Amino acid sequence: MAAPLTAAAVLTALRAEGVRVVEVGNWRAHNRNQKGPWGPLNGSIVHHTVTRGTASTAAMVRDGYAALPGPLCHGMIAKDGRVHMVGWGRTNHAGGGDPKVLDQVVAESYVARPTPPTRGNSNGTDGNARFYGWECENLGDGKDPWPKAQYDAIVRVQAALCRAHKWSAKSVIGHLEWSSDKVDPRGFSMQQLRTDVSERLKHPASWNPGSAPTNPSTEEDPMAGITKRDIFDAVWKTDAIGGPADAADHRTNPTWQPQSILKDVQARIRSMDKRMAAQTAAITALAGQVGGGADTATVVAAVEAAIERAVIDINTKEG
Ligand SMILES: [Zn+2]
Repeated sequence: MAAPLTAAAVLTALRAEGVRVVEVGNWRAHNRNQKGPWGPLNGSIVHHTVTRGTASTAAMVRDGYAALPGPLCHGMIAKDGRVHMVGWGRTNHAGGGDPKVLDQVVAESYVARPTPPTRGNSNGTDGNARFYGWECENLGDGKDPWPKAQYDAIVRVQAALCRAHKWSAKSVIGHLEWSSDKVDPRGFSMQQLRTDVSERLKHPASWNPGSAPTNPSTEEDPMAGITKRDIFDAVWKTDAIGGPADAADHRTNPTWQPQSILKDVQARIRSMDKRMAAQTAAITALAGQVGGGADTATVVAAVEAAIERAVIDINTKEG
């Protein structure tokens, strides 16, 4: 049992729950309060409109018709998931219903669903005083689909009310669970809706199951913006402490960084390449002299000289 939320409070609750709200005219003051009480409130009733077309549906639930003056609910939940607020206060949505059901909703005492109602408009309890009402744009023929955005909005609206009043999802019923005259809503089960509202209530109002922060695609890539050039420079150009190829540093800096080792390996490979090239050139040159009687000592001396020139060349160019 609770005092009704103010218009400002329900707007805050709906928006916190991620509901897209359309405020229709003077909805905050549009009601049937002159015809009877509104409150204390015990729950929320979900309906279908038996209409097609969002604009005409919003107009109909705001204005009502000859036999049933509007507003016919507090908010109309459209196919696209937007909630058109058309009234606040007593509205013509619930009519008469079963007092046993009201007791079970007040106590949130039923298990899967309330006892099937045996009373309705002609002989029931005044539901307009006790329930929020939400008309949902649907033909109500059991075939007209309920788009995901619309169903999600229904869940969010009900969760927002439950959260604001500290109710469980058992305070949310369908019109067919309230009145023996009614079949709405058709096309989804109220048990499933209550399960989905319960799940939402386990999370903060801002919960968006479709874009939870654990989604890997939204995590920051630690390598974002790092180029191959950055990696090359990090490996080859940040060696401030020398490396193994440097004899002095070898003794004074035993804790080389990995890039120092790589730099040393690169230097050694360059040196070996050049020395092998020098060896090959020297041996090739000597091969032409073999017939001329070059002895082993001459060959060794020539190769060693070539290697020495190669090393001097490296040190000159790279030192
Ligand atoms: Zn209804």
